[in-house]
Amino acid sequence: MKKWQEEGYPARLQDSLGDGVVRCRLSPRNCRIRPGQHGFCMVRANRDGQLVSLNYGRSVHATEETIETEAVFHYEPGARILSMGNIGCMLNCDYCHNWKTSQARFVADSDVFYYTPQEVVDIAVRHGIKVISWTYNDPVVWHEFVTETAALAQARGIVNLYKSAFFISEKAVEELIPVIDIFSVSIKSMDPKYYRKITKGWIEPVLAATEQVYRSGKHLEVSTLMVTDLSDGEDSARDMARFVGERLGPEVPTHFVRFHPDYKMTNTTRTPVDRLERAREIALDMGLDHVYLGNVYDTDSANTWCRRCGELQITRYGLNARRPGLTAEGTCANCGTDARIRRIPGAVPERPTTPGLPSSIRHETAGFDWQGDVRAVHIRVRNDAAETRSVYHRRLVTDGAHTDWTRIDLRGGESYRFIAAQSLPGETGVVVAVPPDCTSSLHQVFDRAHFPTTDADAGTVNADVTPLPLYVRPIR
Ligand code: SF4
Repeated sequence: MKKWQEEGYPARLQDSLGDGVVRCRLSPRNCRIRPGQHGFCMVRANRDGQLVSLNYGRSVHATEETIETEAVFHYEPGARILSMGNIGCMLNCDYCHNWKTSQARFVADSDVFYYTPQEVVDIAVRHGIKVISWTYNDPVVWHEFVTETAALAQARGIVNLYKSAFFISEKAVEELIPVIDIFSVSIKSMDPKYYRKITKGWIEPVLAATEQVYRSGKHLEVSTLMVTDLSDGEDSARDMARFVGERLGPEVPTHFVRFHPDYKMTNTTRTPVDRLERAREIALDMGLDHVYLGNVYDTDSANTWCRRCGELQITRYGLNARRPGLTAEGTCANCGTDARIRRIPGAVPERPTTPGLPSSIRHETAGFDWQGDVRAVHIRVRNDAAETRSVYHRRLVTDGAHTDWTRIDLRGGESYRFIAAQSLPGETGVVVAVPPDCTSSLHQVFDRAHFPTTDADAGTVNADVTPLPLYVRPIR
């Protein structure tokens, strides 16, 4: 099998320090790298005195999801996105739920897929997707591939979304702003000591880069992970609300996100929901306009109400959204107030649906019942035929009812991955139907922006709140 880190691609943002040593200026770490060595992220290396990117075009499988997956609630609610994640990270958070891909030493060659910029754009165009999301591990360490592909996508009328922990240099942000339309920044905490200890980064550049984006006028939403007993207290909520209200603006949507045990932090529990609800109350009391909970299903605190008349505009359940009180122009259907919801320019295509499967082909079905905190799965389907094939999926409801089938067309030889998530309280699971010359697999998704590398058949641990594989601490 091909080794993902064999070839290097010329990296930008580097200084030559003499004697073949280079400095990388992509993240605030400013790694000083000798020939033959690599930086902290392990995906930028010094090859013969030149800084190269080792992950250019190396990705996890491209995956269709919804924009809510990325903690973006005020840009085209419910939009389908094409999520692209890569390998490596400039941080190493103790709770990372994508540690299997963010920490390059754990990446298996079998988890790596190869794309050119044009291929990424072609996938989005072929599937009628209008947003490409640079996400999962962290797009900062994929800078050259992201900026080149995003520019190509823009030229095709596709919007780019950047979901990041944003430990990034000012110069790199300058290069992103022209090609990225939506920024979703995950601020891990407002406590400098927490940043150093838990993320191995430091807070000041993250806040500065977030302000830089805010000043640019690009769409910005911020989120913070409330880790049980570490960062889920009232002071955390106050500090976050103060930063957003004073250094950004009260109109910036702010998300308090529920944590699940993972990576080096499995000996703990999920964040109690009442602490998240309290954090939201505090932020609203301090004057923020739009405050939401993330990774919490049965709550009204993920919905959007009109600031003026209080009418319900958007309902959200998990990773899905409906727009009962929003006009096509993005105003309140009741009083006409601007709902501050940005829209994708032009038409946004939807997948075709059908009440029944075509009778001419016998489809194989596979299903998944929502269990514990697992309310979403990635479905991977590969069309082994030379001609186009259609695969279908539908959601099941408690009383034996179901939705119509949603159809996805795959061209000959195509491998495709998409998310199916519980979208209403009464839904019990999902079924996928594939023709005999296609193969499929299911992968349990734990919370948003999670890229599972393990098949659903492998099961889960810790009462369905910690995904596999489990991190095993090396013996020293
Ligand atoms: S991206 Fe950051 S961590 Fe990686 S080599 Fe550059 S400065 Fe170091």
